[in-house]
Formats: sequence, structure tokens, C-alpha cells
Amino acid sequence: MSNLLDYFRSRRSQMLDLLTEMVARESFTRDKGKVDQLVDFLEAKIRTLGAQSIRRIPQSDVGDILHATWNPNAPGKPYLFLVHIDTVHPIGALSSMPIRCEDGRFYGPGALDMKGGVVSALEAIQALRERGQMPNRPLHLLVTTDEEIGSPRSEALIKATAADCALALVPEPATKEGAIKTWRKGGGKYELVIEGRASHAGIAPQEGINAIIEFAQQALEINRLNDLKYGTSVSVTMVEGGSAGNVIPARVTAQIDTRALTIEAMDGLHAALGNLYPKMPGAIVTCQRKHHRPPMERRPDLFEKAAAIGERYGLTIYEDGAGGGSDGNFTAAMGIPTLDGLGAHGDGAHTAHEHVIIDSLPRQATLIAAILLEW
Ligand SMILES: [Zn+2]
Repeated sequence: MSNLLDYFRSRRSQMLDLLTEMVARESFTRDKGKVDQLVDFLEAKIRTLGAQSIRRIPQSDVGDILHATWNPNAPGKPYLFLVHIDTVHPIGALSSMPIRCEDGRFYGPGALDMKGGVVSALEAIQALRERGQMPNRPLHLLVTTDEEIGSPRSEALIKATAADCALALVPEPATKEGAIKTWRKGGGKYELVIEGRASHAGIAPQEGINAIIEFAQQALEINRLNDLKYGTSVSVTMVEGGSAGNVIPARVTAQIDTRALTIEAMDGLHAALGNLYPKMPGAIVTCQRKHHRPPMERRPDLFEKAAAIGERYGLTIYEDGAGGGSDGNFTAAMGIPTLDGLGAHGDGAHTAHEHVIIDSLPRQATLIAAILLEW
């Protein structure tokens, strides 16, 4: 059955061509115009892959979202591919990190995160179609454009599409060692607001309520919520406060980043941050969650099944996890079996030396196709 791997290896140059086309179209999340050019390109590409329905969902401040479906009327429960095509690299990054192939690696902004994974996924779909081996169930592909900013525009669509799916496949990069990701931490972003009372620091300091002093005590309290041994981190990451050098400060705002491995731990943090009480008489302390991605908790059954399928196709599959989230966190938290890190191997995501190990493109296409065939 490893002839599938041989087949995809024979497609290496076509895969590199597609990756080149995609990386050459820069797609910084915040530049809707540029991202839409890549959406145009992919919409046309997906059309050539025979999707029966392609819906383009217009967006005003990020690139349009694509929802393609193959076999919409097939009887089985659907599978869902979750891919994003936005990158963290500002437009123009290509000039300082041009596309190049060197020592079996393909360099370029967004190559690893996650255009390489998109290439492997599309290649797998194309191959199964040509062989008449598409699963007898609907296959959804969501191409989103806001993952790198936490998926504010696509979250609802992702959840709605995933709701009746039997499996979500996320071709985000594999780990550096090439392992799929069977867990991801969840994350919550909070805004802490401390309100005190302003007064003249010379004439009437006793009339003020110093929001910075209140904040300092809250920051220490918040810091104690860290439980790094169990993967829980709570970090005060930004702070702003005060109005002038001779005024008792009336207000401080701060940003807090939280991460945890389990939904239980996330809920515990949420409760603790919601229960902060003022240390100074008259101060007001509020802490609100601005953004939230639930954790993708590890499910050993999913990894075992994926590893067994890989084995049948000559692939040894390893597992690991990540401190950062992906759109797979949403589907996993809904109880949808989710396989993440199915994309390219490589290193340097989000940095100037971002690159893909070229041999991993056919390998991951094989793994994805095998999962579609055998899950
Ligand atoms: Zn990504």
C-alpha cells in the first residue's frame, strides 16, 4: 500500500510549484486586499479539484473565507479540513526572505505555517478523486483568513461546519521533530482594569486612591495562579497607567495571557480571575475575558488510530503537543475527533528562517490520504 507514498513522491515538483504560487502571494492577516488575491487563486484551484459547492463568505476586515464541499449528498458523516492561509509576516517580507530551495528545504514566509499543509491536503484530495477513492461522505474544506489573530471572524463558521462532522483534520505544521499534535493548550486573554481616584500628589495625596499600587498587589496575586508543573501559565504581559508625574493615578489597564492543558484548569483560572477583590479601600478591580480558545485535550484513542493507519502505509507516526492553539482547539472542545499537526515538517514558523522540509510534503499528503481512506 506504500505505492501511495511513491505516487506522492512522484508529484513532488507539482507540490513545490503549488507551494511557490501560494507563498509568492503574501497574505498577512491584516492586509485584506492581498489575502483576497490568494483567496482568488485558491478558489480557482479548488474548482479544478471538482468541489461540488464552493461558497465564498465575504469579510470586511480580513480576507474572504472559502467553504468547499465534495460529495455533499453522500450518506456518511462529513469530514472537515480546517486550513488557514493568512500569515504573520507583513507584506514585503518576501524581499528579505525570498523563496528559495536549499538542502532539501523550502524557505519563504508562511511556507510552514501553513501553506505547506494546504498543499499536502489539496494534493491528497486530488489524488483520491483521480483514483475514484473519495470517502463516501461529504468532505468539507474551510479556508480561513484570520487564524493568526485568533479566528474572530471564522470561529462561528468553524463551529457550525464542524457540528455534525466525524473528524476534523488540521494540516497545521507538525512539530519540529515531525510529530502530529495530539494536544494543544487552551488560551484566554484578559483585560484587567483598576480604577482608583486621582488627586494632586503634592497638595492632597491622601485623597487619592493609587491605581498603580492596587495594580502592583493584584499583579502578584495573579502571578500566584501559575502552576507551570501542570502546564498552567498566567502572565501579566502589558500594563498602562497613570496620567502625569504629579497626579495620583486613577486608572491602570493590563493584559493577561493564560494557558492551560485542560478545560478544568482553564475554568479554574477563569473563576479566579473573575474573583479578584480590591486590596485598597475604594479601588475597583475588574478582569474581563476578551478572547478564549479552549484546550485540545489529548485523546490517546485518536493517536493510536492514526498511528495504526500510518503504519499500514509505511509511515511511523509520533505524537506531541503545543503550547499555542489552532482552530483545532474549537473542534476538539466540541468533542469532534480532531487530528492536528498533519501539515509539513520544518522549523522557524513566524520567523525569518521559516522553512519546510520538502520531503515532508509527499509524506504528509500520504498520511492525509491514508486517513481519508481508512479512518
Ligand atoms: Zn497556523
